[in-house]
Amino acid sequence: MQSSSRPLFPAVESPIELVGQTPLIRLRRIAADLPESVRLYAKAEWYNPGGSVKDRPALNMIQTGEKQGKLTPGKIILDATSGNTGIAYAWIGAALGYKVKLALPANASPERKKILTAYGVDLVLTDPALGSDGAIEKARALYAANPDLYFYPDQYSNPANWQAHYHGTGVEIWQQTEGQVTHFVTGLGTSGTCMGVGRRLRDYRPDIQIVAMQPDSPFHGLEGLKHMATALKPDIYDPSLPDLNLEVSTEAAQNMVKRLALEEGLLVGISAGANVVAALQVARQLSSGVVVTIFCDGADKYLSERFWTES
Ligand code: PMP
Repeated sequence: MQSSSRPLFPAVESPIELVGQTPLIRLRRIAADLPESVRLYAKAEWYNPGGSVKDRPALNMIQTGEKQGKLTPGKIILDATSGNTGIAYAWIGAALGYKVKLALPANASPERKKILTAYGVDLVLTDPALGSDGAIEKARALYAANPDLYFYPDQYSNPANWQAHYHGTGVEIWQQTEGQVTHFVTGLGTSGTCMGVGRRLRDYRPDIQIVAMQPDSPFHGLEGLKHMATALKPDIYDPSLPDLNLEVSTEAAQNMVKRLALEEGLLVGISAGANVVAALQVARQLSSGVVVTIFCDGADKYLSERFWTES
């Protein structure tokens, strides 16, 4: 008996071919209080081989670097990342035969460090008090000291980051909603997802509503996201693109992560929970519409966090 009526994925020559084309999942139970004419969907980015939305920009930055002659055999891929982009560089580097060196705050979770080490990454641990900005400064200094040794994609200022979402994620959302998407809601980290998907959906539909979500405090627990007022602003971030900015607390995001597991059967990461909090807030204002958000990653890297057992 076939387990699903979906067409079967053809065999691939490399995991590289499996980046993108992730499922779009309707959230019915979480959105049960909404009218039937308001639909809420989330794009399950843990279906990428590295388990997160960041496989898309990492692959595009690497392939663009190769095309531009900036990444050649023997060079080391260097960047600053507290997590998912690093995991993406790590497996893509291994699959393509490049060494990878990453600066990350020393307090990054043990799961993450183990994953990166398993892929053979050289980790440079930076002062946790300086957060992700400390890691960025370290990567910049390493690159400046030896530019010929490294390929430094610099995800915060590399247009290939948002362009991965412009050519991939945004097109997929349009096709998967059959052009019915009215609102796109997502959190800001490098802002690549928001900028790329936002620009693509606006091309398709100029009245699309783009909603950018941020943590409500600089001292948040929403890994992968930035409190823009206090962080180093990414060069690729254009604050004029979103129609609306919302803030979400760490506690609200954690509660939503628990609800998504219990009510939808979806075990997602914390920024994914925060995205759903913001997307529901948007959806509750509507009498009709199709609201799409992103499940940036799954919960596996966050299982040691305390909130799971706190009520
Ligand atoms: N959530 C998670 C878990 C992430 O790793 C990232 C990437 N930093 C984001 C959200 C934000 O995505 P972007 O960098 O495209 O703004």
